[in-house]
Amino acid sequence: MKKLFFGALLALVISCNNENETNSPQNSIAEQSDATANKGAFCGSDIVRQKLLSEDPAAMQRMLQLESRTADFIEQKKLGRVLADGSVEIPVIFNVLYTNSTNNVSDARVNSQIDVLNKAFASTHADVSSIPTEFQPVNAGDTKIKFRLVQINRKSTTKSRWAPDDKMKKASTGGVDATDPTKYLNIWVVDYMPYQSGYVLGYATFPESSGLWNDGVVMMDEYVGEGGPIATHNKGRVTVHEVGHYLNLRHIWGDANCGNDFVDDTPQQITLHRGVPTYPKYESCGGVSRSVMFMNYMDYSDETTLFMFTQKQNDRMQATVSASGPRAGLRIL
Ligand SMILES: [Zn+2]
Repeated sequence: MKKLFFGALLALVISCNNENETNSPQNSIAEQSDATANKGAFCGSDIVRQKLLSEDPAAMQRMLQLESRTADFIEQKKLGRVLADGSVEIPVIFNVLYTNSTNNVSDARVNSQIDVLNKAFASTHADVSSIPTEFQPVNAGDTKIKFRLVQINRKSTTKSRWAPDDKMKKASTGGVDATDPTKYLNIWVVDYMPYQSGYVLGYATFPESSGLWNDGVVMMDEYVGEGGPIATHNKGRVTVHEVGHYLNLRHIWGDANCGNDFVDDTPQQITLHRGVPTYPKYESCGGVSRSVMFMNYMDYSDETTLFMFTQKQNDRMQATVSASGPRAGLRIL
C-alpha cells in the first residue's frame, strides 16, 4: 500500500515538473531516454517526508525528538560515553535517609550492591551453575548493562516510616532531591515502608517516568547489598529485581492470574512464588502445563533462588537503554 502511494506521488511530481512541456511523441522518447540514462531521476523520500511534516504536527515532534536523541548519541560517542563493546555503564547515585547507625547502610554494603548488580546483569555470579539445563539456552548471559557508583548522599532524619508515595525523593517533604534523573539512576534508601497489612521492600519507576523528578528506585535498608539482617534476602537481589522494573521488565507472572509479561521466553505461570520452590515446578495456564521459571529475578522467590534474566528480557532492557530508548541518557561520565 505504501509503495503504491509512493509511486503515485512520484508520478505526480514528475508530471508536475513536466507540465510546461508538450506531450509529444518526441518528448516521450526523450523522457524514456533520460530514464535509461538515469537523468532527471530523483529520490522522493524527502518530498514525502515534507508533506507528512507539514500536515502532521505530531510527526514533526517525533522527528525533532529523534534528531535530538541522535545528536545526543553522537556526542556521547565522541566523549567516549558509549563503550567500545556496545555496553552501557549506568551511573548510580545512592540517597540514604537514615535514623540510626544500623539503617545508615555502610559504604561497603552500597559497594556490594553495585557488585551484585554487575554480576547479575553479566551473569557472572556463582549461582549461574544452578540454572536448570532446561533454561540455560535462554539465559541472558552478559546483558552488557553495567553499573558504576558515582556518589552516596546521606541525610539524617527522624522519620523512620515512609510510604511508596515518593516523599523520600524531595527535600521539601523530608527526603533528598534526585540528582538529574535523565543521567543517573537514583536509589533512595529508607528505614521502613509499611503498606496495607505488610510492607513494601522496594519499588521502582518504569521508563514512562524516565527523567521525571521521582524517577528511580527506593529500597528498605535491609535489602541493600550483601550481608543484610534478613537471611532469606541478604544477597542484594531485590534491588536487581527493582532495577529490572526500572529497565522495563514486568513481573514474570504478568501481574495477573496466568498474565502476560511481554517476554516470549519466560514460561507463563499462574502467579508469584515465595520461598524456595522445588524444581521442576509445573503450572497450568490455558490448559497447557509448563515448567515455570521461579528462579527468574522478576519472581518473588527467596534471593538464594533468584539468579537469572532471559534473553528476551534483555531485549526489553536493551531497547530501554539504547540510543533511541527512553533511558538513552544513562551513560558513564
Ligand atoms: Zn516487582
